[in-house]
Amino acid sequence: MEDSLYFNEEHLRVRDMVREFARDEVAPVAARYDAIAEFPWENIKKMGELGLLGVPWPEDLGGAGLDLTTYMIVIHELAKVDASHGLTVSAHTTLGTSPIMYFGTEAQKKKYVPPLASGRVMGGFGLTEESAGSDAGGTRTTAVRRGNCYLLNGSKRFITHGGVGEIFVVTAVTDPTAGTRGISSFILTKTNDDLERAAPYGIGHDESLVPMPGFSSGKKEDKLGWRASDTRELIFQDVEVPADNLLGEEGQGFVNFMRTLDAGRIGIAALSLGIAEGAFEEALKYASVRKQFGQPIAEFQGIGFQLADMATEIEAGKHLVYHAARMLQEGKSVTRSAAMAKLFCSELAMRATIKAVQVHGGYGYTKEYPVERMMRDAKICEIGEGTSEIQRLVISRELLKDLIP
Ligand SMILES: Cc1cc2nc3c(=O)[nH]c(=O)nc-3n(C[C@H](O)[C@H](O)[C@H](O)COP(=O)(O)OP(=O)(O)OC[C@H]3O[C@@H](n4cnc5c(N)ncnc54)[C@H](O)[C@@H]3O)c2cc1C
Repeated sequence: MEDSLYFNEEHLRVRDMVREFARDEVAPVAARYDAIAEFPWENIKKMGELGLLGVPWPEDLGGAGLDLTTYMIVIHELAKVDASHGLTVSAHTTLGTSPIMYFGTEAQKKKYVPPLASGRVMGGFGLTEESAGSDAGGTRTTAVRRGNCYLLNGSKRFITHGGVGEIFVVTAVTDPTAGTRGISSFILTKTNDDLERAAPYGIGHDESLVPMPGFSSGKKEDKLGWRASDTRELIFQDVEVPADNLLGEEGQGFVNFMRTLDAGRIGIAALSLGIAEGAFEEALKYASVRKQFGQPIAEFQGIGFQLADMATEIEAGKHLVYHAARMLQEGKSVTRSAAMAKLFCSELAMRATIKAVQVHGGYGYTKEYPVERMMRDAKICEIGEGTSEIQRLVISRELLKDLIP
């Protein structure tokens, strides 16, 4: 893939820059942030300066003005070293910012995109609720029109950047009689609960954003993996949201979120691919130096074949991810290709990291080597932004849609 048909000179330039950043700035701190389960503000500041938190957005809105292939390269390269850093880019850009970019008014874009794209504040996306997970249409959060405002009540579960973020796009029911067509989306602002740790780096808050009373974050999740990513509840108690903060039209929130998730799934596929490739590179390195029975273990066919399988599957994953990214860039429907890329790469991340731990023997089961963290980080890729079962459902529906009306 070094001479990939998907990449031009610009892609390779960004890839090398992100590789260098991941090697010099992420690799040395990844195990520590995993252990303490804290958000890596110092690196967020650096990622903002490098333009990694607004890769595909126009330069006049604070973005880097690059294409979606470049964006996937960034997630892929970061995740090879640390999945949490890769997820931060993906959740912030696709989930937190793209709905405003794609469905927002000019005024909404001008107000909210620059602080997000520059990495000054973190953004997130609130769809999942206690009783609305895979069945996201089961949203119970309500938004009732009161004059120039909507009054929001309810809560969201498992929201990436729930504590550290200031700008959120969330769904709420505006018409309980209309099913998923009665769900709308809104832009909400709150205070960053981790501001004390962010402040020394001059980020985490933007003066122009006014926190909405009644909008707060709840319990922080203590997770198996993605531990340097912040996942929390969002709580809405009589939050007065100005009608100007309705995103898109009333009743379009669910449809718009489904479109956002199509793109998000390619991001999680790139992230999963990065985890798999990072684990593979560690396994290859280790197997070539670890000697047993007087020879490098890579020379045993049982190990060499595992490495060969990992490399082949990773190559297949790259084609799925970068093909889907190109389709998205060209404005084509990606429902099927995004679901296939996400399904294949997330399950690949799990298989590859399990093999990488196995290749490391007992050492792979300790924190001495990063493959242990990579294996923990891989599992959620089969769950977040639609479980593997839901991806299979999406793919099978796409296969049958012209056959069974
Ligand atoms: C670390 C983390 C970060 C997250 N970040 C966000 C975020 O930023 N924003 C957000 O909105 N959400 C976020 N989520 C939520 C995530 O998208 C959901 O957890 C996921 O969609 C699954 O929903 P659930 O957990 O309620 O599981 P459930 O929907 O209860 O699923 C439980 C099991 O049932 C299976 N199942 C359900 N329905 C079917 C079906 N029809 N056919 C076959 N099997 C089925 C599932 O595949 C799964 O195996 C995050 C979750 C985590 C853990």
